Amino acid sequence: MALRVGVIGGGQLARMMIAPAVELGLELRVLAEEEGMAAGLAATAVGDYRDLDTVRAFAADVDVLTFDHEHVPQEVLRALVAEGIAVHPGPDALQFAQDKLVMRARLAELGVPQPEWAPVRSADELQRFLDEHDGAAVVKTPRGGYDGKGVRVVRSGVEAQDWLDALEGSDALLAEELVPFVRELAQQVARRPGGEMISYPVVETVQRDGVCAEVIAPAPAATERLAEVAEDIGRRIAEGLGVTGMLAVELFETDDERILVNELAMRPHNSGHWSQDGAVTGQFEQHLRAVADLPLGDTRPRAAWAVMVNILGGPVEGTLGDRFEAAMAAHPDAKIHTYGKAPRPGRKVGHVNVAGDDLDDAVYVARAAAAAFV
Ligand code: ADP
Repeated sequence: MALRVGVIGGGQLARMMIAPAVELGLELRVLAEEEGMAAGLAATAVGDYRDLDTVRAFAADVDVLTFDHEHVPQEVLRALVAEGIAVHPGPDALQFAQDKLVMRARLAELGVPQPEWAPVRSADELQRFLDEHDGAAVVKTPRGGYDGKGVRVVRSGVEAQDWLDALEGSDALLAEELVPFVRELAQQVARRPGGEMISYPVVETVQRDGVCAEVIAPAPAATERLAEVAEDIGRRIAEGLGVTGMLAVELFETDDERILVNELAMRPHNSGHWSQDGAVTGQFEQHLRAVADLPLGDTRPRAAWAVMVNILGGPVEGTLGDRFEAAMAAHPDAKIHTYGKAPRPGRKVGHVNVAGDDLDDAVYVARAAAAAFV
């Protein structure tokens, strides 16, 4: 019987696991939050991933559980593991992608380079951190942030008062030095339960308004040293945290050539979408291989350059349908991926991948094809 992989969460990441699962001969099942989601095609259940009974019932029919997002509560995950269900990544690893304070503390133990940081519980504590860091800091809510929500640059202790007021019990906010980075990078590593690992080339990511806009693989002008340092960081984290499946490490590169870890994702990640069409093994296939404990695939690029441009919903709501056809006609050399989501303004509704020998050409075509949608 085919191995059954259950994905919790019905977003675009689960959606993009569907085709590789079919090719690998795996049976993919999805627990979607609601009807009609991006991964609806493979949804065998609709329900609340925070409810143990719902997740347990879904898990009863699969051989391994994995995720479209990192929001399944620790209690639910630990109960499933205690019942003998294979969960990848497991709760011990996933906690470091669920809580940025927990992550910072563990990366410090591992000796991984990262921005200076501190937990802060009051405006006074934040002000003290600011005084020690040239008067500027990035304050983050440790849990639940995404696409720049829950991240704020502050220059005075009171600028995070609303978040401080909302803290409960022993909770704290994360304060970080404002890193003067020259660019952002991402390093991906896949790891099997037994410890076998393979890494992807380090890529450059470009964010606009806190949202990933473009990715270039490999990172332009990446020296051998940079590539090695990034790979080493990725491998140390994957191993040190016991990650299974795909790990993405978001990085800052500073003008004095330091590489610092921003944050982690333990699932396929926007910074790895390029690999669907630009590498021998795409990240969605690789994630499935890793969580199903199958041999990992080659990560070599298929071309000198691969460029990914996100398609964000424009100011006009509606469907992508007719624009999709126009974009396909105008750019037959672009690989267009759509998520089946209503294009609300700013929402990620698809992406375009272009691979080729000339970086400028690839960037031009990918941007033009993505722009044809808005
Ligand atoms: P999210 O979880 O919402 O993706 P991140 O922690 O990745 O939040 O932060 C979003 C963006 O904010 C980053 O991509 C980066 O551009 C900027 N940022 C985050 N932390 C820092 C920092 N310490 N210094 C400078 N910029 C930062």
